[in-house]
Amino acid sequence: MGRKSDPVAKAKNAIAENTQVYQRMNFLHQAAILLANIPKEATTAELAAKDHSTHPKSAVNSSRIDTTQEPALSPLSRHYCNTMKQISRKLVLRLDPNVKRSICKTCENILIPSVTSSTRVKSRPQKNITITCRSCNTKKRLVSKRGHELWTNKSKDKQVER
Ligand SMILES: [Zn+2]
Repeated sequence: MGRKSDPVAKAKNAIAENTQVYQRMNFLHQAAILLANIPKEATTAELAAKDHSTHPKSAVNSSRIDTTQEPALSPLSRHYCNTMKQISRKLVLRLDPNVKRSICKTCENILIPSVTSSTRVKSRPQKNITITCRSCNTKKRLVSKRGHELWTNKSKDKQVER
């Protein structure tokens, strides 16, 4: 019997009410990306320098940097992603699809192309973009069909039509 609430106004209210929460989630996402971008070389180079003075052989071994290894601070990055997801779950706030797609579902690692994930364009069984997490090998398939839209874009168009 009550008046129909406007979905746009409702969404705006939700953002206004939870400004601090969104800011916190934004910070966690950015921090996770930053930490995942710090290469292992930065920390191994320091260790190698320390080892060189005492054990020359170990320094030679540690100087060989494996590029397939995950970034040095990825556990912390993962923790930040986990915290961000927990906040959104507890307060029932929807994460933006682009943010959601940048996090691995299995290990909650942040997916940065060529750093923590590999991206391939495939044509079968359907045209799609396959993102593979480098730490747990979980694959994410995103449909790239012509005319395919995300639900967020669809709802915006419908709102404009009204
Ligand atoms: Zn993963």
